[in-house]
Amino acid sequence: MNMSEPKQFRTEGLRGEMRCDVPMSKHTSWRAGGVAERMYQPADLDDLLVFLRGLPSDEPLHVVGLGSNLLVRDGGLRGTVLLLHGALGGLRLEADGSVYVEAGVPGAKLARFAALHNLRGAEFFAGIPGTVGGMLAMNAGCYGSETWQKVLRVSVVDRSGALHLRTADEYEIGYRSVKRIQDAGCRMQEGSESRPLNPESSEFFVAAWLKFEKDDGGSARQEIRELLSKRSASQPLNLPNAGSVFRNPPGDHAARLIQQCGLKGRRIGGAQVSEKHANFIVNTGGATAADIENLISEVRTVVLQQTGIDLHPEVRIIGEWKVGSGKSEVGEGSPTEARSADPLTSQDKTG
Ligand SMILES: Cc1cc2nc3c(=O)[nH]c(=O)nc-3n(C[C@H](O)[C@H](O)[C@H](O)COP(=O)(O)OP(=O)(O)OC[C@H]3O[C@@H](n4cnc5c(N)ncnc54)[C@H](O)[C@@H]3O)c2cc1C
Repeated sequence: MNMSEPKQFRTEGLRGEMRCDVPMSKHTSWRAGGVAERMYQPADLDDLLVFLRGLPSDEPLHVVGLGSNLLVRDGGLRGTVLLLHGALGGLRLEADGSVYVEAGVPGAKLARFAALHNLRGAEFFAGIPGTVGGMLAMNAGCYGSETWQKVLRVSVVDRSGALHLRTADEYEIGYRSVKRIQDAGCRMQEGSESRPLNPESSEFFVAAWLKFEKDDGGSARQEIRELLSKRSASQPLNLPNAGSVFRNPPGDHAARLIQQCGLKGRRIGGAQVSEKHANFIVNTGGATAADIENLISEVRTVVLQQTGIDLHPEVRIIGEWKVGSGKSEVGEGSPTEARSADPLTSQDKTG
């Protein structure tokens, strides 16, 4: 194992990789942002559990998949980033016909796997460049399908390294939003764990069992091809971006409103509202996270002033302002919030 760990970490028996001062620009699709103090990429699920059991209780923890919906501020992240992409890669067909998929598996791999096994309904995952964990956290979706429509049950882990099985009725699931219903979670913990109940304990997804329809597979493969060509025709995939920046407001499209306000092409530093798709912000080269975040704020302000509609960011913004940027130094509203951010309950941070 390659580790230069801080002293308080228990590292015996770990098989993953711990690195320090890791640029998050290498782990986010915007290719921008600050440095993570520590990053741990577990070898597999068992290794993740051992890691969590040795984690100091006050260590801030940030779960990251492919970083395709994430902006890390230029001041970086305190604590440890847990990188699940390339780590939790289990994917198999179960005897009951469901698909077991671990949180680090990319959507495209899941879609291909389902089509190859003559299953239909997973095609939309092919166009979403995130991991299954990130898609569960965001209830990611497109073309009329959403991640949680396919979920039979999920496996989550808490900070102490205990696994729990959960079903959809333990969450409030909405458009690009998933929150655990804490009461239901607490009842389950009381019944299944000898540990003292900690209502603030955070959990994150490590695997899911998904259900798809049986098919001959051929039509699913064809649909994946069509969906991918539709995307490359309408999205600026040649430049770093994080997909749609804002959620669509009820009955309308964020892209339409942004375009109507004349904001296509608007630029701050290296960040630009895409000319191809107005709800995308692209990094044209050398954009800082502050450029991107300032452009998000400007778009939101202009759209509110001109249309009366307050757009809410879909992208998650975490981390600290860079010293000297003129902003407060801890990003997520308050230091307490930054340290205890629960991946299953935290919301967008720009509000
Ligand atoms: C070109 C492009 C197109 C896109 N198109 C779509 C689209 O059509 N539909 C759509 O919904 N999204 C789309 N997105 C956004 C993004 O791909 C999705 O939100 C995706 O689900 C994010 O997955 P990720 O692994 O990259 O998550 P990350 O960006 O790494 O993380 C996003 C959030 O999820 C949390 N998270 C990550 N893994 C876990 C876990 N295992 N357990 C709990 N929380 C976790 C993180 O802490 C963070 O808060 C697009 C992005 C791009 C760049």
